[in-house]
Amino acid sequence: MTDHTHTTAINGATGAPLWLLAELTYRCPLQCAYCSNPLDFAAVKEELSTEEWMDVLAQARAMGAVQMGFSGGEPLVRQDLETLVAEARRLGFYTNLITSGLGLDEARIEALHAAGLDHIQISLQASDPDVAAAVAGSPKAHAKKLAMARAVKAAGYPMVLNVVLHRHNIDRIDDIIALCDELGADAVELANCQMYGWAHLNREGLLPSHEQLKAAEATTARWRERLTERGRDMRLLFVVPDYYAERPKACMGGWGAIFMTVAPDGAVLPCHSARMLPMSFPNVRERGLHEIWYDSEAFNRYRGDGWMREPCRSCDERHKDVGGCRCQAYLLTGDATATDPVCSLSPDHHLIEAARRQAEHGERPMAGLTLRNVHESRIFCRA
Ligand code: SF4
Ligand code: SF4
Repeated sequence: MTDHTHTTAINGATGAPLWLLAELTYRCPLQCAYCSNPLDFAAVKEELSTEEWMDVLAQARAMGAVQMGFSGGEPLVRQDLETLVAEARRLGFYTNLITSGLGLDEARIEALHAAGLDHIQISLQASDPDVAAAVAGSPKAHAKKLAMARAVKAAGYPMVLNVVLHRHNIDRIDDIIALCDELGADAVELANCQMYGWAHLNREGLLPSHEQLKAAEATTARWRERLTERGRDMRLLFVVPDYYAERPKACMGGWGAIFMTVAPDGAVLPCHSARMLPMSFPNVRERGLHEIWYDSEAFNRYRGDGWMREPCRSCDERHKDVGGCRCQAYLLTGDATATDPVCSLSPDHHLIEAARRQAEHGERPMAGLTLRNVHESRIFCRA
């Protein structure tokens, strides 16, 4: 239950959102088994129109948001993406496109550039087409992604690649980094899969073992040294999976502290995963963003530390990690107010230890992964 006295105090100090993530659509030509979209995404039918998105952008900018991400699903599915980018730039946002690269071609890159798009991040699944095809359900995507990564760079953007790591590709990290190097990448995020959405559903089939993780970290460190020796400026960011951390991350910088996500149907969320929590979220079709951010029950529920239980409530580290991730707490314990079990001080930490032990043993063929697609999603819509 929300501590209203505390919420009021927090409310008084609530700053403006700095980041707006516009999830333009849940449609996507790929079917990644680790997708963070909600399991029941197929239930979302009516996407916001161009005019409704324009209004969202204007409201968020008026509140002080400066950074914008266009994501999805695959944002390039929306034919009005260039229009929305141009409007975001006109309003003064710094604009980022987070894409699989599918739906992109040279003409579209040029159009996005002309619209004022500041930054493009393309995701890669693996170093070889077979693994990429098995985990994303598309045999042709890999070659297309490589071509588009090159085209983005040729258009004058830095090449920023994101590779989601999991137990089926992490052992090939040497090849993955070599591929990024050969492509001419400027920055590579080696992001270990976090267990939300479809990734949580496929957790057993995706979580790497501790040994795999340590080996991958060591390979990345060796690559950093080699790149420095060559004078090659390619930044490598290795993101450790929550399941192998001893403390949780300050999820989204704190609930309703910095980030605001608007989902394809106008639902407003403190983070893109929050939709799976057992609570309702306000919608821009019914309320203004300002009111939603400052006054809605949803945005105030886990703001600050008034909602925390022990051991977080009296912990010295609570301002650093804000008790971790509410989605992870709920997914693992069924209680969104619990301490994130990733924390070694959590009474539920044994759940994480059990998942780690499980990851040490057994074959888990890629063919056993549930791919994210409309057919599978409909099963969760009925659930
Ligand atoms: S993770 Fe894969 S399936 Fe999900 S939106 Fe991104 S590209 Fe599409
Ligand atoms: S007990 Fe809570 S506040 Fe303390 S370190 Fe763990 S998650 Fe963070």
